[in-house]
Amino acid sequence: MTEVPDPTPAPDEVVVEVDACGLCGSDVHTLQNGHAADGQILGHEFSGRIAGVGRDVTGWREGQPVAASPLGSCGKCRICARGLAFRCEAAPNIGITRQGAYAQYVAVPARQLAALPPELPVETGSHAEPFSVALQAVKLSQVGPGDPVLVYGVGPIGLYAIMGLRLAGAGPIVAAGRSAGRRAAAAAVGADVVLDTREKPVAQYVAEAGVKFAAVLECSAAPGAFAEAMAVTEPGGTVVEVALTPEEVPVPLFGMLSEGLHLVGSCAFSDETYRTAVDHLANGRAPVEKLVSERVSLDDTPDALVRLRTPATLVRIISRPWN
Ligand SMILES: [Zn+2]
Ligand SMILES: [Zn+2]
Repeated sequence: MTEVPDPTPAPDEVVVEVDACGLCGSDVHTLQNGHAADGQILGHEFSGRIAGVGRDVTGWREGQPVAASPLGSCGKCRICARGLAFRCEAAPNIGITRQGAYAQYVAVPARQLAALPPELPVETGSHAEPFSVALQAVKLSQVGPGDPVLVYGVGPIGLYAIMGLRLAGAGPIVAAGRSAGRRAAAAAVGADVVLDTREKPVAQYVAEAGVKFAAVLECSAAPGAFAEAMAVTEPGGTVVEVALTPEEVPVPLFGMLSEGLHLVGSCAFSDETYRTAVDHLANGRAPVEKLVSERVSLDDTPDALVRLRTPATLVRIISRPWN
């Protein structure tokens, strides 16, 4: 914790007074691995109220409740055109490569803002970022009504993915995980079947049920999970790797081509997906409140990030700098 000057908005930016910022597993990894640059303020899952408006900004006013995508985009390059703003070389990302929201104030390019309805608790907007990560994976899984889906891993992204799959009409939704607390959360947010993978491996469930999955969202980073996911996906189905894992796996190419499997990596989200996430939240379509385990002050945020290394029953901790 340290004091720094309040940010001032560049001509195309606003300053947001942070209401809430979710603690993310990627922040935990960044700190654990010493990857944060000196003086870098982390925090990229946030919402708040506009506290200052840059000279060239139109359509936004002080006091307005907003969520903000952390992903900068030049909006012009081929990578941005593909919807992969997070890979754009020209624009930094809030809380990752420019100053973030574990702070009272954060500067945000106006193009990254999304308005929140005044009747919505401002904190709800802080779910938009991780929910977008999950919705992007759901989109890439190409599932629709009546498609059986496996969510492998019930950390926060897996849990948001279950909500996204419900909204897509997919089902039955099978969730598989090891943490008892998070398995309970999976049922609470809409999983039809919840497996304890220590008692019943996914392959055994599939053998007994006699049905493979139209898609598997691999959100666990558990060793062997990707290979297992491929084995339980039906012909023409899709395996989406969502968990950040350094694992390298052999891909059985004959199985992949003869089954017509789609193997897809999903990281972050497009601007369009972020707007969809905010729209779902603004209309109360996803029970995101059920994921909040704790709210902490800014002073307690560093300690909470340490506790998240061994999450146990913790799902989501929210930093509230003004509380
Ligand atoms: Zn995150
Ligand atoms: Zn770009």
